Amino acid sequence: MTAKTVFDDVETLKKELIRCMKCGNCMSACPVYRVEQKEASVARGKIALGEAILDDKIDIDDETLVNLIFNCLVCKSCMLACPSGVRYDRIILGLRAAIAKKKGLPFIKKALFGLLKNPELFDKGMKAFATMQGLFLKHEEQKVRAPRGLLRQFGKRFDEEFLLPEISKESFRDTVQELEDVENAQATAIFFTGCSVNYFYPEVGNDLIYVLKKNKVRVITPRKQNCCGMPVMVHGDIDTARELAKKNIDIFEKVNAGYIITVCGSCGSALKHEYPIILEGDTTYEEKAKKWADKVYDISTFLLKIIKFEPPKGEVNLKVTYHDSCHLKKSMKVFNEPRQLLKMIPGITLIEMKKPDMCCGSGGSYHLTHPDTALKIAQSKAEDIKQTQADAVCTGCPACMMQLFESIHRWDNSCKVLHTVNLLAQSYKSEEKENV
Ligand code: SF4
Ligand code: SF4
Repeated sequence: MTAKTVFDDVETLKKELIRCMKCGNCMSACPVYRVEQKEASVARGKIALGEAILDDKIDIDDETLVNLIFNCLVCKSCMLACPSGVRYDRIILGLRAAIAKKKGLPFIKKALFGLLKNPELFDKGMKAFATMQGLFLKHEEQKVRAPRGLLRQFGKRFDEEFLLPEISKESFRDTVQELEDVENAQATAIFFTGCSVNYFYPEVGNDLIYVLKKNKVRVITPRKQNCCGMPVMVHGDIDTARELAKKNIDIFEKVNAGYIITVCGSCGSALKHEYPIILEGDTTYEEKAKKWADKVYDISTFLLKIIKFEPPKGEVNLKVTYHDSCHLKKSMKVFNEPRQLLKMIPGITLIEMKKPDMCCGSGGSYHLTHPDTALKIAQSKAEDIKQTQADAVCTGCPACMMQLFESIHRWDNSCKVLHTVNLLAQSYKSEEKENV
């Protein structure tokens, strides 16, 4: 690594910090500040804390202060409100990397992240957990689980209201062919599934392939793709994030398709924005990271802007509201396209909720590490959804789907949670039925 990046060089990180003019505009956008109303909750407060940590004015062993740096969803909302163009995403990830370097990672994180570096072992671990999930999680309804008493010991988040989708015993990538071919293909695309689709939402993956094939796109789903690296990056494990990024880039190089399609805002953001940043200065991978970043598209942009899209014609009679995933909107800048697609589906009425781009409170693992604040953020989102009286809330990120599903049940709503591709597939399928 030759470049002085925010992850490797304290002086470079300090240069990012001093761009903040302490105006406080970020307060109005921050979901954590909205709940906690504390200076340390918002970007400005964390930047000041970061300066003190880097200047050794705060003892790195002061857990309470250092942990404030982790009280952030990395939702990037503050960046949209910032008049000085402060690159807060680099700052927060750089600070966490600096802390991890100085203090080392806690044992549990080290073990989990080590597993992610070995996709075969990770896959075996997930499947083993899937077969044993009944020990920790009881059946609540079809494909939905709730924690048993044993799991409740692992933290406040796992209370009696907590729900999560069942972990598939067979991963999505085990069930599809690596190459899904079509006659007269107009494009060839790699499907980067992400871990949530692979283990929790295989139906989103199946619908994505179906929708792409309907539009004459040849789909390659590399079986051995790795985690995108976002979960480790946000915990400061930059070495593992780089290793995962390089392994994924090696896979893309081998397949060599024209596009990479994602159905997850966080995976898409990692591949498109984070890889070129974390691999800056790497003589072998910097250029490759940039080349592949240019080929990454969220499914909605790919359908509307890259290929000749055949809109579905089948009726889907639903009132739908759309939740903007933070990484999809604020990092990938995708928010018009999913709405455009939904409006094209016959029978769908799109009703906007109040603040559709306010975070759902998931933040990857934030809802587990900071349950009190996360639950308050989630409650406000659930109430906004309920007010619309929609039959379904639709989004472009499986991590948001998990959080929304849980919050909707917790705050007593029966509305469905779907991905945009689920509704597109539903419409194509009803069109097929109508034509029989
Ligand atoms: S990234 Fe989100 S949670 Fe973190 S400081 Fe910015 S607005 Fe607040
Ligand atoms: S809006 Fe930007 S410049 Fe203003 S305090 Fe927040 S991060 Fe600093």
